[in-house]
Amino acid sequence: MVPELVGKLTALGYDVAVEPDAGRHALISDEEYAEAGAVVDDAAFDGADVVVSVQPLDVERARALPAGTSTISFLPTGAEADLVLACRDAGLTSYAMELVPRISRAQSMDALSSQALVAGYRCAIVAAGMLRRFFPLNMTAAGTVQPAEVVVLGAGVAGLQAIATAKRLGAVVRAYDVRAAAAEEIASMGAKPIHLDLETLEGSGGYAREMTEDRAARQRELLAPYIAKADALITTAAVPGRAAPMLVTREMVEQMSAGAVVVDLAAETGGNVEGSVAGEVVRIGNAQVWGGRNVPSQMPGPASRLYAQNVVNLVTLMTAQDDEGVASFAPDPDDEIVAGACVTRDGEILHEPTRQALEGEPA
Ligand code: NAD
Repeated sequence: MVPELVGKLTALGYDVAVEPDAGRHALISDEEYAEAGAVVDDAAFDGADVVVSVQPLDVERARALPAGTSTISFLPTGAEADLVLACRDAGLTSYAMELVPRISRAQSMDALSSQALVAGYRCAIVAAGMLRRFFPLNMTAAGTVQPAEVVVLGAGVAGLQAIATAKRLGAVVRAYDVRAAAAEEIASMGAKPIHLDLETLEGSGGYAREMTEDRAARQRELLAPYIAKADALITTAAVPGRAAPMLVTREMVEQMSAGAVVVDLAAETGGNVEGSVAGEVVRIGNAQVWGGRNVPSQMPGPASRLYAQNVVNLVTLMTAQDDEGVASFAPDPDDEIVAGACVTRDGEILHEPTRQALEGEPA
């Protein structure tokens, strides 16, 4: 939560309690929350109907909440099996921000998009900062300096934002994505789509599908010359529910020229670049390879502001008013957005893929 949005929740009829130091890493003081109308309280969880956080709660925290409490946070169910089971067993209603359906009515609640926007921008800025040459063309009395060549792999929300940012800084940007619609989206950002002689890979809901190992090998082979020529490579490719696809081998990075920079946004989820390490800069051949770790948190102000707005919009949808105008937290379980985002309720795992993974097929 950010102070400027506390008023939106109090206007809906909620009391807002914030843990001391909750905003410290986003440069927000306890006093600012208090001035905005929140109570700053060590026992902020006590008596809460809804507990909102960015990261999933600790298992112990979840177990301590009374049955019927709702939680709203990012909740990667694949990686948080223990927490999902704890929420089920404690009778909590847990909502995962990444499961909010990507329908137009839910766009204002789409935290994956808002955080990808921050991360994509940050990736381009990191690449520009690490590269020890100009991004733009410079025509000077002392001669012409050629612009940097940037290659972006994966042109979803983060990739497109990285492209737009690198373009604004004046680089020549080429980009590739497996989805059919991507070439047009890349071109609309002013970058050059890389056309490979490969079939497109469209999954459901506008997402990519996983590649076969044969196709992955062929894609790497066809991309290699583009990567060898790039001054900066930014990778943002992901497939929902899977480890990030390995798009660039160590050998491909070794072909890059001296001073080259690689930014792997997917380092935390398996890595698009072989050898990248989340949260570290490693050297591969001539290149410095930067592995992203919790990248949105590197721009905590805007990341928090956007996430808080997503949460406020979701809570607003989940708030009902009675005939006298008295509001209560009463999510409609039949609403597509509420149902889509709900992981556990009343002692059951409602998100079917998670339920199957943790409880198996029905008898
Ligand atoms: P994502 O984070 O799941 O993946 C990032 C990108 O990686 C995707 O564009 C994907 O196609 C690409 N990718 C996967 N495998 C690849 C490979 N082997 N090589 C190259 N690229 C690869 O995706 P995202 O950013 O969440 O967006 C996915 C789609 O959802 C996009 O079409 C986006 O426009 C759409 N979207 C819709 C809404 C909405 O309707 N509300 C909101 C956000 C995004």
